[in-house]
Amino acid sequence: MALLAAAVVLPTVSLLWFMSRAVGNERLVIQQKLTALYGQQLEDADEQVKTRINERFDGFSRANWSMDPYGLLRRLVLTEGFQGVVLWDRDGTPVYPAAAPQRVDEQAESRLADAWQLEFAEENPAAAAERYSRLAASGDPRALAGQVRCLTKLNRWDAAAQAALISQSSEAAPARLLLLSLLQKNDSVTGRQDMQTRLIRALSEDLFNSDSDGVITPDFAATDDYLPAAQNLFIARKLLAALEPGAPESDPLSQLVAAEQLSLEAADVFSSPAGPVDSLVPVRIGGEALYAIHHPTPFAGTMLILLSNEGLAAALDGYLEAFADSDVHVRILDSQGALIAGEFGEDTPAIVSARLPEGFPDGTVELFFEDGDMFNKVAGRQIAIYIWTGALVILLMLVVGAFAVQAVGRQMRLNKMKNDFIATVSHELKTPLASMRLLVDTLLEGRTRDEAHAKEYLSMIARENERLTRMIENFLSFSRMERNKNAFTMAAASPSEIVDDAIDSVCTKYRTNKCRLDTDLADGLPEIQADHDAVVTVLINLLDNACKYTTDDKQIHLSVFAEEGDVCFAVSDNGIGMPRRQVRRIFDSFYQVDSSLARTAEGCGLGLSIVRFIINAHKGRVDVDSRPGEGSTFTVRLPIGRKNGAA
Ligand code: ADP
Repeated sequence: MALLAAAVVLPTVSLLWFMSRAVGNERLVIQQKLTALYGQQLEDADEQVKTRINERFDGFSRANWSMDPYGLLRRLVLTEGFQGVVLWDRDGTPVYPAAAPQRVDEQAESRLADAWQLEFAEENPAAAAERYSRLAASGDPRALAGQVRCLTKLNRWDAAAQAALISQSSEAAPARLLLLSLLQKNDSVTGRQDMQTRLIRALSEDLFNSDSDGVITPDFAATDDYLPAAQNLFIARKLLAALEPGAPESDPLSQLVAAEQLSLEAADVFSSPAGPVDSLVPVRIGGEALYAIHHPTPFAGTMLILLSNEGLAAALDGYLEAFADSDVHVRILDSQGALIAGEFGEDTPAIVSARLPEGFPDGTVELFFEDGDMFNKVAGRQIAIYIWTGALVILLMLVVGAFAVQAVGRQMRLNKMKNDFIATVSHELKTPLASMRLLVDTLLEGRTRDEAHAKEYLSMIARENERLTRMIENFLSFSRMERNKNAFTMAAASPSEIVDDAIDSVCTKYRTNKCRLDTDLADGLPEIQADHDAVVTVLINLLDNACKYTTDDKQIHLSVFAEEGDVCFAVSDNGIGMPRRQVRRIFDSFYQVDSSLARTAEGCGLGLSIVRFIINAHKGRVDVDSRPGEGSTFTVRLPIGRKNGAA
């Protein structure tokens, strides 16, 4: 038994140990595998991001765009997603945003003063308009504005609009803006709506638009036909305010206004074009955190482009795209640990991290698992397989162990029973043999008084003989049964004849032991398909037990009746009965409720096992109802009419 326990326990313990080691290793292996895999993917994404940004800069160099600074600003802001630009020419002179060209013409100034005199001091708008108109022809924006103002004072709105709109030059912008604001205050003007629309269209064309559309000129400063940045910005803001909310022009215009504002402030911060080429340098402009990139243009001087945080995040989009369908999440952090792009993933450690590629500001890109310890999760799947396999193996070992224990136990019990059996058999055989020998000796010695006395001795010998015969018969039936050699001869058998034969066999014993037997046979009992002698043996064994296991007042009742397609033989006694627990086992070979040699009843625990064997071969059933001290009823049920199979 100890060996058996060791055979189960030792492999179980070693298996558990092996499993715990395997589980620990699995986590490490998975961690290494995943780190290597994601590390490689991150390097690929890195290459992709670098390639994209380089292609973008190359794109600037290859582009065939207008050299007009406003054309460039428009393109960089509206198409390329930058926030502003500062331009220097080849000599490092600022080109954009530039101050208004200083064109002081003494003569023109005094003529303009005369016109003001006429307009404001002499309050003669007609004459003033005439004077302004002449001055405006020379391209002074202030004169054109004066002409428009005087015409509106004369209520000549159409003429004012014509004057403001006739010029293609952006220098007409102040006059157009003035007329627009006057029209807004004066809603009685005929054709006001139409005039306003035309003015707004003309103004939006003036602002931020390239005049030298698509023409490559050798230098940024080649044309001065654009408004200086500050003035352009002023007009643009006014126009923005005049626009209806939601007007199609307002969105790009407001972007350009913001960009020009930032460009103006950047020009103050960066006074020279010197700086690291094509690198994003963090800078604070107008309270906003931005990145500045110096990029030498192949066609002119240097440009400094401003990029917002969102712009930077968009430039790093390649990382997010690379891992969009993967289990990992991406976060891109600047040198201070602030998030540039991706997700923060609070408190989740990074699996792999890398520095941002060259040219990008100091920062890292990190990969992490959303629910923290993904290694455990992935390893968990593998571990679960180990645990299940291990558990199954352990279970299998336990089941096999349990079977082995049971088999060994059964074998041990059988051995004990066989030993008991030999002891019982010897005991049981010795008693009748001894008494027969004593009786025979007495007869031989002629110590009998008379013939009647001798006859009595002889009948006692016959009884002992009969008892011995029955016992030996039982042994033989058992041994045949064990070897399964018993073949039953099935034939139509009459229940009453069976009962008669069984009673005949036990009557001597019953008489000697003063057993009262009453029988109760139902009328018209059907015949059964059975081996007559075998069923008689069954009844003899039951009647024999009923007599053996009753004390002084032995009352035995045998009833035969038909019920639910069966013929039932019920043997009841008023004997010692037995506890319910024992009832299940009494049909086992050699089992006796009281197995001590001191017990009074003869027998060796085979009777009921023979009963069960015969009943099973007849496809019948035997039920026991027994209570300690009250008696027992054994009911044998044999099916009627069917051809019961022979064993
Ligand atoms: P045995 O030769 O010991 O009588 P059996 O197989 O006939 O063997 O019976 C097995 C055991 O069942 C008996 O030893 C006895 O303890 C119990 N038994 C059988 N019949 C009765 C009964 N009618 N009343 C009480 N106990 C019984």
